[in-house]
Amino acid sequence: MDNTIKKIVIVGGGTAGWMSAALLKKVLGPVVQITLVESEQIATVGVGEASIPPIQHVNKVLGIDEAEFLRETRATMKLAIRFENWYRDGEGYFHTFGAAGQSSAFCQFHHYWVRARQAGLSESLWHYDLNYRAACEGRFAKLATADTRLEMPYAYHFDAGLYGAYLRKVSEALGVERVEGLVEKVQLNSDTGVVESLHLAGGKCLEGDFFIDCSGFRGLLIQQALGVGFDDWSHWLPCDRAVAVPSERFVKTLPYTRAIARPNGWQWRIPLQHRNGNGLVYSSRFLSDDEAAAQLLANLESEPLAEPRITRFRTGRARAPWRGNVVAVGLASGFLEPLESTSIHLIQSAIVRLLKYFPHGGIHPQVVAQYNHQSRLEYEQVRDFLILHYRLNRRDDSDFWRQLAQMSIPHSLEHKLSLFAEQGVLLRENNDLFAESSWLQVMLGQGIEPADYHPQAKAMSDGQLRDFLAHTEQMKMAPLAQMPEHDAFLHLYTGG
Ligand SMILES: Cc1cc2nc3c(=O)[nH]c(=O)nc-3n(C[C@H](O)[C@H](O)[C@H](O)COP(=O)(O)OP(=O)(O)OC[C@H]3O[C@@H](n4cnc5c(N)ncnc54)[C@H](O)[C@@H]3O)c2cc1C
Repeated sequence: MDNTIKKIVIVGGGTAGWMSAALLKKVLGPVVQITLVESEQIATVGVGEASIPPIQHVNKVLGIDEAEFLRETRATMKLAIRFENWYRDGEGYFHTFGAAGQSSAFCQFHHYWVRARQAGLSESLWHYDLNYRAACEGRFAKLATADTRLEMPYAYHFDAGLYGAYLRKVSEALGVERVEGLVEKVQLNSDTGVVESLHLAGGKCLEGDFFIDCSGFRGLLIQQALGVGFDDWSHWLPCDRAVAVPSERFVKTLPYTRAIARPNGWQWRIPLQHRNGNGLVYSSRFLSDDEAAAQLLANLESEPLAEPRITRFRTGRARAPWRGNVVAVGLASGFLEPLESTSIHLIQSAIVRLLKYFPHGGIHPQVVAQYNHQSRLEYEQVRDFLILHYRLNRRDDSDFWRQLAQMSIPHSLEHKLSLFAEQGVLLRENNDLFAESSWLQVMLGQGIEPADYHPQAKAMSDGQLRDFLAHTEQMKMAPLAQMPEHDAFLHLYTGG
């Protein structure tokens, strides 16, 4: 029997559907025929405007010109997220994509900083982080350097609707066929249980060898047809709704996202070239939709450009994102609130994983199990990182925050927190999306300062430590004075 996969059918034309289509077609070329079906009757989620640095790999693989991408999606540059009021009202910290200082092979920079701090240093760790200083000064430049200590990693803020349209254009140019239609029935093989075809309203039938479920929260194939089940994590991450509204752009665009804690949730503010994206993420147990919309509108700093729109969601993941000949990608595979802008990245990493394990010579259960295992780990690591932000809050203004500060947390996270608090040790699990510097910044920002530091940081004399810190700052900040303002960079780079 020929079990080569030749026909792939993707259900859904949101970011997940079009990114899957573009990457699969780009990599597999004429080996597969790809059809994407989407229905104009079912809107895409339409939010998803902040990204993290690995998105640049997607663009590179697809051969996308960065300046064109910025123009087409009205994008701005993102160096960091600023968390405001998360620890206590009135206090804030950055989670940048960079890293403070320079680390030795055995001892990370923060150990030296902790030692200096305990001896009275007043500078924060971020003082030695170029991303932070450029973000605060509203500057941006693309730094061409082979020295990783001198990099300034970045991502983008973009218009989600325009990004989807752009990926569609790329996919269609590569040869992906788009079908407009509502999938009404999923036909399973009565013996094997695999999906054979999709029946659309109006009678059309789409057959395929392999199916990608990008149908969004409804999980048309993976949940409704195959019923793989869902791990619900709302006891750790209780927010289940968001209200979003665009507003007029500010005169000056910041090169970072703002995530502002509010009495019953948090608000995002994402600067684009032509407008701001705003939203309030909240728990329906603590806030009604009307109250949420009113609070969001009251906290906009520019005029709203549309009516507020509510999205409901459930936090957690599909138990088996790959079952038989179906892989769920995007919201169909799970959702974690947008606090660290991870959803589009999870789409990207699911497709990369699928491509790595792409079936040939049959679908092997071990491969499927490995894919599902890696997907679970990835989701759990992001989940733990998000819980960290909530669990360490010291806000005392609502039951929402008080309950979160007292919740029991996964053992994996408990262990990380206590090691850091006692010894400044950062444990990075295999392939954790968030590197040590991310955990470090959020743990410090949420109020943990390590009690001890690595022995190598004790080996320097006081004078050597002072010189090392001064030299590090000078080296890291050397490019700062030449950097243009963020808007000037965008103008020049995009020719806009
Ligand atoms: C409030 C909020 C904020 C977010 N912010 C960010 C962010 O800042 N950064 C980030 O990375 N991510 C963010 N996300 C996540 C991001 O929006 C999604 O990961 C991304 O849009 C992918 O969505 P999707 O393509 O999986 O689903 P959707 O956008 O829901 O698309 C589903 C598609 O399936 C089609 N479909 C469904 N049923 C059928 C059917 N029966 N027949 C035919 N077609 C069908 C629909 O027509 C649609 O085209 C956010 C999400 C939310 C809810």
